Amino acid sequence: MVIMTTTSSLTFLPVLERIAEEIGRTPGRGRPADYIPALAARDPRSFGMAVAELDGTVYGVGEWRQPFSTQSITKVFTLALELAREGDELWEHVGREPSGNPFNSLVQLEYENGIPRNPFINAGALVVTDRLQTRTGDAADTLLAFLRAESGNPDLDFDRQIAASETAHGDRNAALAHFMKSYGNIENAVPTLLFEYFRQCSIAASCADLALATTFLARHGICADGTRLLTRSQAKQINAIMLTCGTYDAAGDFAYRVGLPGKSGVGGGIIAVVPGRCTLCVWSPGLDERGNSVAGVAALDRFTTLTGLSVF
Ligand code: GLU
Repeated sequence: MVIMTTTSSLTFLPVLERIAEEIGRTPGRGRPADYIPALAARDPRSFGMAVAELDGTVYGVGEWRQPFSTQSITKVFTLALELAREGDELWEHVGREPSGNPFNSLVQLEYENGIPRNPFINAGALVVTDRLQTRTGDAADTLLAFLRAESGNPDLDFDRQIAASETAHGDRNAALAHFMKSYGNIENAVPTLLFEYFRQCSIAASCADLALATTFLARHGICADGTRLLTRSQAKQINAIMLTCGTYDAAGDFAYRVGLPGKSGVGGGIIAVVPGRCTLCVWSPGLDERGNSVAGVAALDRFTTLTGLSVF
């Protein structure tokens, strides 16, 4: 099924239709994440993909209007919001190198003195959300307001069932937060930080919403209303970190196959940026062993192969 919202330019719609048809014929879609029990019931055959053009046109195929759990995709937006506020001082508290370890790993933190490798592993995202909480007093609400504004969808919201499920099974994130606090790298009380972080991860949004909300990175830092959130250089930096660290410990393979800055989440979504041109979001809940959507990576691989659009 293809639905279009506007007709000003639907350049890539035939490509999306071809990809959806190919994906539909492909067996083996991985398994939904089950360490957050509320995510486990998702159907791995679900698939949606959207493209947002820089003028706000958005179109897609499959279940591109279906909200899903954004999870780690939100780490891109909290990073942008905090980097805009704090600038380079942020990098004293979180690094920007690939970790080569699973997203929820504790091991590196001890021998690197509580400074997480990058903002897209859980430890790094906890540091970013903590600092955004210090600056705003309501990190998750600040994020939600930003996503609503950039997607143009005032109905975006937290999924309280997902947040509760993750809170009930959040021991590893709690361990990361306590451990970093022992090194002085967390400012707020750990329960406050976890409350904000789990609400952040629980936000439900569709491929259309997320493709639109990501366009500020393709516009080199300019928001939907024409105001500047990030300097051109900061937008470049975030795109670079997405490319090198955005898809768990498979970022090398993602760069090899897709060749775009991207960020995945265990809800099965992936956002990707074609700087200066457009953004993409794809969703399919079945994950590979690294935590990336199997059909999502395959679809983005086909997109850059068929269009020739990549950063390389
Ligand atoms: N809320 C999830 C967690 O902290 C996010 C994981 C992810 O999407 O990578 O475990």
